[in-house]
Amino acid sequence: MIEVKSIINGEERKSDQYYYRECPYDNEKIVTKTHIASIEDLKSAIDIAREIFDNDRYNWVSDYKQRDRVLFKIAERIREESQTLVDLLIDEIGMPLRQAKAHVNAAADIFEYYAGFGSKIYGNVKFLPNGDLIQLVKEPVGVVGAITPWNFPLTQSARKIAPAIAVGCTIVWKPASYTSGISYYLAKIIMSSGIPKGVINVVFGPGDKIGSELVKNNKVDKISFTGETTTGKWIMQEASKDLKRVSLELGGKNPFILFKDANLDQAIKGLIYGMFRNAGQACGATARLLVEEEIAEKVENKVVEAIKRLKVGNPRVEDTDVGPLVSKSQENKVLSYIEMGLKEGYKLLVGGNKIRNNGLERGYFIEPTVFSNVDNKSKIAQEEIFGPVLVIIYFKSEDEAITIANDIIYGLTAAIWTNDYRKALRISRRIRAGSIWINDAYTQPAEGLWGGYKQSGIGRELGLQGIEEFVEVKMIYNNINENYLHFKQVYKY
Ligand code: NAD
Repeated sequence: MIEVKSIINGEERKSDQYYYRECPYDNEKIVTKTHIASIEDLKSAIDIAREIFDNDRYNWVSDYKQRDRVLFKIAERIREESQTLVDLLIDEIGMPLRQAKAHVNAAADIFEYYAGFGSKIYGNVKFLPNGDLIQLVKEPVGVVGAITPWNFPLTQSARKIAPAIAVGCTIVWKPASYTSGISYYLAKIIMSSGIPKGVINVVFGPGDKIGSELVKNNKVDKISFTGETTTGKWIMQEASKDLKRVSLELGGKNPFILFKDANLDQAIKGLIYGMFRNAGQACGATARLLVEEEIAEKVENKVVEAIKRLKVGNPRVEDTDVGPLVSKSQENKVLSYIEMGLKEGYKLLVGGNKIRNNGLERGYFIEPTVFSNVDNKSKIAQEEIFGPVLVIIYFKSEDEAITIANDIIYGLTAAIWTNDYRKALRISRRIRAGSIWINDAYTQPAEGLWGGYKQSGIGRELGLQGIEEFVEVKMIYNNINENYLHFKQVYKY
């Protein structure tokens, strides 16, 4: 069992209030004991981050070479510590072994990608017609409050922490409560990478206490949040009180559009990968399969066959494909959606039950589940279930597929499967989502882009665009023309 404490100005803080986290595949095993920070702890974390930023202490804001070295070192240390990180991912959220390894690598990739950025961020300069010169410089936004979810705890944090470090921000990080152990471990890795103490502080506690105070505190310049759309809406409303900058990475219920001319076997593999990764607890999951009606029956048979081949079980076992849900409450939520689908009369093609046998008695396992011929207007098609439940929706034409794909509050991702590339590009233009995959699903390279249209969020992460979320741009006006021609146009003297 790991004892998790907040780390403020480089020092670990104990508390007399704590909670225990059970392992989702064996609820008799306790994984972490987390000390809950007080509001005073949080305030001292914000104060130190503010002080370092405002005074450029340790030359943190000005010395980008130092920051570049730190980022390279963090990436290296994550790779060195990958076994421990994988173990924690398995024990805290039940992420299957192979997926956990890929997740750790993806987090290291993000730190590596942003390492070196500090020396490569430039502004712009321009001579004006009157001979004067303007300089547009990029500066760090200031103190960043990073609030992260439990479902992909390393990459979601890396997407905020790495670019914030690259540009010279200071950080107060509030990780999700389910994943305090892995967040604490990542924080220790970051602390051991040459970063001055207090530049990043990590504070553990409930979202509605610690998270909300971080959002409200007027010494914080920016909130970078990943989580549920409802939480994101509240954060945006609260941040408006002092016009704090926000970026929000929120929910999704994403279409996977399958045409009859696609390579169906490849498409099913893509669908399974996009849908059942992390037991479907993924914002970008391809949770609505939109299939051309003519091939619906054939595709449904293939989907069922593929699901029957999936290994659901102990996430520590090498060949497990689908692990448990993160918690009892998440399991109950998913089961209530399955019940809703059945009540609405949709045909269950496969799954629908809890699994409590063959050594899985003490975990939160649900069979991969598929509903056929679902109306896109129904709740099981419109709402984020965040579990292993796929809904299949039929379409007759390209236009109808696009209408159904867009007919939802979310706009995070979409996959388009066809061998007609002109058609795929035509559709890509018309789908309102931040990431489109053509004949692929759920790949997110660090060099790429991530973010939502509509109620899936505001702002972008990853790639060059991810840097822009952590900078302000300032104009410096240099008068070169001593005649002040522009004054003379307005004043007569
Ligand atoms: P959540 O909104 O419950 O919690 C996310 C974080 O916010 C946690 O750290 C939580 O403690 C904190 N929080 C909760 N209430 C808060 C408040 N009032 N003020 C400040 N902070 C608060 O989400 P979750 O259950 O941890 O994560 C799952 C959700 O995240 C899903 O909806 C999923 O789609 C979304 N998600 C989105 C992306 C993306 O990139 N778009 C990525 C991963 C997850």
